[in-house]
This record gives sequence, structure tokens and C-alpha cells, in this order.
Amino acid sequence: MLVVQKYGGTSVGTPERIREVAKRAAETHDAGHQVAVVVSAMSGETNRLLALAKQVTDRPDERESDVLVSTGEQVTVALLAMTLKSMGYPSFSMLGHQIEIETDSAFGRARIQRINAERILSGLRQGNIVVVAGFQGVDAQDNITTLGRGGSDTTAVAIAAALKADACEIYTDVDGVYSADPRICPNARKLSRISYDEMLELASLGAKVLQIRSVEFAKRYQVPVHVRSSFSREEGTWLVHEEPSMEEVTVSGVTSDLDQAKITILHVPDRPGLAAKVFGPIAEANIVVDMIIQNASADGSTDLTFTVPKGDAAKALASVKALLPELGAQGVTHDVDVAKVSIVGLGMRSHAGVAARMFQLLAREGINILMISTSEIKISVVIDAKYTELAVRVLHDAFVTPPK
Ligand code: ADP
Ligand code: ASP
Ligand code: MG
Repeated sequence: MLVVQKYGGTSVGTPERIREVAKRAAETHDAGHQVAVVVSAMSGETNRLLALAKQVTDRPDERESDVLVSTGEQVTVALLAMTLKSMGYPSFSMLGHQIEIETDSAFGRARIQRINAERILSGLRQGNIVVVAGFQGVDAQDNITTLGRGGSDTTAVAIAAALKADACEIYTDVDGVYSADPRICPNARKLSRISYDEMLELASLGAKVLQIRSVEFAKRYQVPVHVRSSFSREEGTWLVHEEPSMEEVTVSGVTSDLDQAKITILHVPDRPGLAAKVFGPIAEANIVVDMIIQNASADGSTDLTFTVPKGDAAKALASVKALLPELGAQGVTHDVDVAKVSIVGLGMRSHAGVAARMFQLLAREGINILMISTSEIKISVVIDAKYTELAVRVLHDAFVTPPK
């Protein structure tokens, strides 16, 4: 078999942990498998580097920021490959540009466009354990790029797809995908299997156990992904295609996302073209707008509220402020102390009344709902950030059935 193993920040957080990772990769190699290992930076390192940049300038240049943060992974690939060699296992490290993980030029959130599998494959054929730097790539002009926070997951799944690997094992600090973040919800339970579509929703709604792009790759290229703990031997969670039995469970998971800011344009004359005027420039600035609500207009004017990622709030606000005179709006307000809490499950397609029950449960706790959005398999609400953990626990314990 050809196996891709990915180890996250905590799993390579100390020299001792790196030795443990080496042992596990070696064991898989000893069992007769070909092994490519993708690693993240040591835990805390990417944050440390980003903070360092902020100490020299308020607005670090995006290209140079990627040159900087990609060094975290350069450290861990070197340490892991030298550990393996010292144990007598042929191994070598590879950076994104050496492999040719080609991406677009969106620094800090680049997307993989092409991977040259040749050098990794020939390394594997010669019996090496090939150690690959996660999170980084190179654009068509040879600039170093990075794939967004948590991007090593995407490197691993994309490499697994390119190598046509038999499995992609994501080793992390929890032993699988849970029905809610186990750090927030003590009753969360491990899911032995989850469908690609549910995992896509969970990842995009805040469950950072897998980066969303990695799940998109897994689904598109049918990569068998196994999320499991680097601290234990237990089976984790497999990403699978939808199975009939999965429909029986209404809600499989509850998520929260604190990376939200809410912007409201007040008292704006409600004319055709309003939304286009507001959201055109925001889209041009590469800002992803998530939820949007517009109040019914009473006296010909309305309030327009939308959410954006916190990091883009200042840019979005500036864009709206510049438009205020043209829109004839009274003003604009914003709130960064909000959170999006969501429930996800394939079974929602066939169960009525899930939304109503969700709203009742939140009302009973005195939690005010600021915005709502729904899709076939998820319901999201925006609430005051201080209620996030309470909301997750209440919804989880009401909707997610305990194991029998
Ligand atoms: P790594 O460094 O290995 O990539 P991450 O910190 O990125 O690890 O992701 C693992 C973390 O994701 C866990 O420690 C857990 O707190 C968090 N998490 C959030 N939601 C979930 C969930 N539904 N199931 C499992 N873990 C979750
Ligand atoms: N080191 C990067 C980060 O902290 C990538 C990753 O860990 O997946 O976001
Ligand atoms: Mg991660």
C-alpha cells in the first residue's frame, strides 16, 4: 500500500514528539508500505512568526509574510527526515517548490492547482520515507505561497490524490472527528464515519479539525481519509460516501465559529441595485461575505446586515463607508463580538421542525438570535459571542443522540 500520513502541530511539537512520529512512520514502512509524511510547523510556531511580522510593521507585505511563515514547516521536515536517517531509514525532506506544488498567487490563502508527483514517487520507489512540508506551495512566478491556516491538511490530501495513495491518515491531537469540539463540549462523541458532505459543512462552519479545502479534495478525488490521534493506536474517523443509515441521524455535529464580524448599513433607501452597489466592491476586495439579511422596508428605507471574516472587517467597513453618500444611508455599525453556531446533519433533509426546535432551545437559555441561514443539511445562527459555548452544549445535548 501507499500511505500518506499527516502530522499536525501538536504531534510534532517537541523533539520527543518528532521521534514518536518517526517511529510510527518507520513502523508503517516496516510493515511493507510506501510512506510519504506531511508535517505542519511545531505548534505555536506559525502564530509566533505572524506575531513577529506584526512587530516590524502593522501591515506585513503578503508575499513576504508567506516567505516567513513557510519556514515553520521547513524546520519540521528537516528534523523529521534527519531523525529517520539516524534510525537507519532512508529518507529525505521536500519543500513545496522542490516538489512543485503549484498554486495560484493568492498569498496567505493560495489554492493548489497542480502537483508534480514524480519526485516523490521515485523517492518512494527507491525505498525512502519522503517527508513533505505542509501548508506551502509555489506560484507560476516561483513565489512561495501558503494555503491558509490549517493548510497542511490540504497538502496531505492533495498529495494523496496525486500519488493515488491507498489512504491518507491525518494524525492530530484528538482521536477523530467528534459531534462537537471536545474542548467545548464534554459530551461530544467520536464519529466512526462521516460523509464527505457533512464533513464539508462541519469544516466550513468552524470545526478546524480538517481544513475545508482538504475535504473538497478528498471528495473530488475520492481519497480515503482517516482522522486519528498521534497519541494512541485507536481507530479514528473515516470520511466516506453517504450511506443509507446516515439518514437516520438528524444532527451529526454542532460547530461554532468566532471568526465572524457583523456589519449593518442603517436606514438606506431601498432601490434596485442596492445590493449590487454594496457587495460589488467587497467582492472585488476578495472578501467573502457569508450571511446577508435585509429588513423589509417600511418607509422606503431598510437596514442591510451581513457578516465577513473578522480579519476582513476593517476593509469591508472602509468599503461601505466610502459608499454611504452615494447610497444615501444614515450610517454603518459593526460588531465583532458575534459567533456563528450551526447544526449539521444529512437527516435534516427528511426531518421537519429541526429549525423550530433549535430556536426554542436557544430562546429557553435567553440567547438572542441575530441572523439565521439554512441549507439542506445545516442551520446556522449568529449570536452574541459570549453565549457560544453555552449554545454549543445545549444544542449538542438536545440533538445528538448518545451512543447506545
Ligand atoms: P493539528 O495541529 O493536528 O492540525 P488542529 O488544532 O488544527 O490540529 O485541529 C484539531 C483540533 O480541532 C482539536 O484539538 C479540537 O479542539 C478541534 N476541533 C474542533 N471541532 C472538532 C470536532 N468536531 N471534532 C474534533 N476536533 C475538533
Ligand atoms: N502551520 C500552519 C498553521 O498553523 C499549517 C497547519 O498547521 O496546517 O496554520
Ligand atoms: Mg490543523
